[in-house]
Amino acid sequence: MSENNRQSIRWMNIELEKIGKKFCSKCETIKSVDDFLGREKRSQCKKCRALLSRKWEAEHPEKKAEQNRLGMKRYYKKQKEQLGDHYIVSILTSDTILKRKDIPNNLIEIKRLHLQLKKELSNADKITR
Ligand SMILES: [Zn+2]
Repeated sequence: MSENNRQSIRWMNIELEKIGKKFCSKCETIKSVDDFLGREKRSQCKKCRALLSRKWEAEHPEKKAEQNRLGMKRYYKKQKEQLGDHYIVSILTSDTILKRKDIPNNLIEIKRLHLQLKKELSNADKITR
């Protein structure tokens, strides 16, 4: 896209945004601002960005795998910190033949309280020493 085009799209978008609309530079369609991502509202609509990221993922499978791995790592770290259901079920089912469906929800809740209590006690222990 030329600099001239870019400039005129910028001007057009200033006018369009007054009526809650925006021009997508990829599919060249005027859409609602809700069809764009983020607070700053990217210049491409959600649909076009999804297509672009799918294309990028297909071209960079190793980078995508790394992103997935990091995403999972973050997810499990958060689960552990917040005592999420997934984390608690993994404790309850580790070294057993039990599956998620075998664990009733109230057992998850009891285990969560148990872990919270253990955490509190270990913190209290650290303070008194
Ligand atoms: Zn688009």
